[in-house]
Amino acid sequence: MIFSISFKVVLVDYDEDLFAPPAWVGEELAHHGIEWIAGQHRTPETVMEAARAGDVVVVQSVRPLLTRAIIEQLERCRCIVRLGIGYDSVDVAAATERGILVCNAPTYCVDDVADHALALLMDGVRHTARQDRWVRAGRWDRRGARPARRVKGCTMGFIGFGRIARALAGRVSGFGMTLLAYDPYLDVETIARYGARKVELDELMRQADFVSVHCPLNEETYHLLGARELGLMKEGVFIVNTSRGPVIDEAALVEVLRTGKVWGAGLDVFEHEPLPLDSPLREFDNVTFTPHVGANSEESVADLYRTGCQIAIDVCDGRWPQGVVNPEVEGTTPYPYRRD
Ligand code: NAD
Repeated sequence: MIFSISFKVVLVDYDEDLFAPPAWVGEELAHHGIEWIAGQHRTPETVMEAARAGDVVVVQSVRPLLTRAIIEQLERCRCIVRLGIGYDSVDVAAATERGILVCNAPTYCVDDVADHALALLMDGVRHTARQDRWVRAGRWDRRGARPARRVKGCTMGFIGFGRIARALAGRVSGFGMTLLAYDPYLDVETIARYGARKVELDELMRQADFVSVHCPLNEETYHLLGARELGLMKEGVFIVNTSRGPVIDEAALVEVLRTGKVWGAGLDVFEHEPLPLDSPLREFDNVTFTPHVGANSEESVADLYRTGCQIAIDVCDGRWPQGVVNPEVEGTTPYPYRRD
């Protein structure tokens, strides 16, 4: 399809290490008569300048770039695409008020994040990263493998039981664990279908040996695991977070690590990224860090940009796109969309 009007799709920022746009994106959009302008803009002024040119404005990085102040200045924009799952970096309410669609890519890395959470979980149980550090440093000290326990027979708790948590539940289903899930938006039957039992948050925190965090970050989940919730846990638990850092109150996590109540943590996400050099979390040899790479794989990059291209093509062609997170915009957007 070649469009008569010249549409522009503007990428305002991306993670250059893992999620740089492949060359075929520009070619694919050009084939549909759409201009692709990819840039990395880190200040509000340059983001604003770039975004004002776009019919579709795309952000890949997780930085909170598309703020209300910027969105209110976008006169041409029909759709904002967050090339990722979490869309806490976009002020969705501001976009909705202006009749701008906000889309995400809800499935592109589900399996990758589930793989990563499993890697962090197993590292916590077997302390592989710590022992590797010790052996490399010339320390042949097998006490680095302690404390250890057998996974079989343990209880694992999922905070949020959406796509990634379910993919992880499938992976650990052969481990012989009891699976619990806290997700106020899902019913007992849906959770049971994936092998877990629906429980309230306090019961999960009291019973779980391993806790894995998979809910989105929003006002309701900010510091969902704070001092009170972490205080409910039994001794010797292990926590994995591949969701968003602020879901866990990091200061409270540091306290339970200090007391030894928590045997370890595997963290891909942090309250402040990159993890500050003076973060007290760095004191703990039993915490394994990865730099927000859960989504990473060759396949996920291709899936991500394929999804983004399709959304842009559909929007420019007047077709209701996939992944709309503010469907209430339909009645207020100045652009009519057909569903075919
Ligand atoms: P999803 O939307 O499929 O599932 C999220 C689940 O959380 C839903 O079932 C929802 O009902 C539940 N939920 C919402 N509010 C809750 C609350 N207050 N308490 C408990 N549960 C609640 O999302 P997903 O694909 O499973 O992704 C989960 C999160 O993982 C994303 O929001 C994103 O922030 C994060 N993520 C991280 C990476 C990474 O690289 N580490 C990559 C992709 C996604």
